[in-house]
Amino acid sequence: MKPLLQLVEAYTVASLNDAVRELERQFPEVLWSGDRNSNQVALTFDDGPHERDTPALLAVLAKHGVIATFSWLGERVEQMPELVAAAAAAGHQLMIHGYRHRSFLVEHPEALHAMLDQTQELLARHSGRDPATITCVRPPYGHLSRALARRLLNWGYQPVICSIMPVHWLLPAELSVRQVTQQTEGGSLIVLHETLPGPPVADLTDQILTRLTDRGFSYVTIDTLRAERAATGGARG
Ligand SMILES: [Zn+2]
Repeated sequence: MKPLLQLVEAYTVASLNDAVRELERQFPEVLWSGDRNSNQVALTFDDGPHERDTPALLAVLAKHGVIATFSWLGERVEQMPELVAAAAAAGHQLMIHGYRHRSFLVEHPEALHAMLDQTQELLARHSGRDPATITCVRPPYGHLSRALARRLLNWGYQPVICSIMPVHWLLPAELSVRQVTQQTEGGSLIVLHETLPGPPVADLTDQILTRLTDRGFSYVTIDTLRAERAATGGARG
C-alpha cells in the first residue's frame, strides 16, 4: 500500500471514534450512534434514489437478509418513485436527506421547513407509509449548527448524522471496506453513498456485510438504533 493510504487509514481508524464521542457531547440532541453495549449497527445510504445503485443495493441487502435505512432527496424521489415503493416493500427505513443536495445552513428556514415537509410527503406517498413515521433527517454534508438542530426538533424532525463515513468515492474498495470493518463497534451508524463515482456501493456493501456479520454484528434501522439508545441512556463508553 502507498504511504499516503497508510496515513489515511491510521488517521481514520485511530481517531474517528474519539471524534464522534466529542461531537456527541457537543450535540446530544443529534443521533450520532447507538448503544455501544449492543452488537447492533445501522447501515444507511445517502443521496439516492439512484437508477443503478438502489436496485443493486436492494439485491445485496436481500441476499444478506439485512434491513437498512435509505436517506433520500425529494427531487430524486420525484424522478424515481418506483424505487421508494421497492425499498419500502423490502422493509427498509426511509429518511430525509433534504429536497435538494444543498447545505441546510444556507437555506432560508421557512423554505427549508417546506422542503422537508414536501420530501416527507413524497416518501410517505410512494411508500404507502404514514408521514408521521418518516421523521429522521440527515443534513447534507453533515452541516449542522445548534440553531439548525433546534429548528429541526421544533418542526418534528429528528436530526441524525453518523459515526462512520468512508470517503469510498475517492478510495480503493479494499481500503473503505477495511476502514469500516475496523472502525465498527456496537451502535455504529454507518453511512455509504449512492450516486457517486468510485467502486460500486452495492459491491462495497456486500463485502462490508460479510465482514461485519463474521464479527457478530446484527443490523437495525435508525429508528431502532435511536429507540434503543434512548432506552439505555446512551450507554456512553
Ligand atoms: Zn449527501
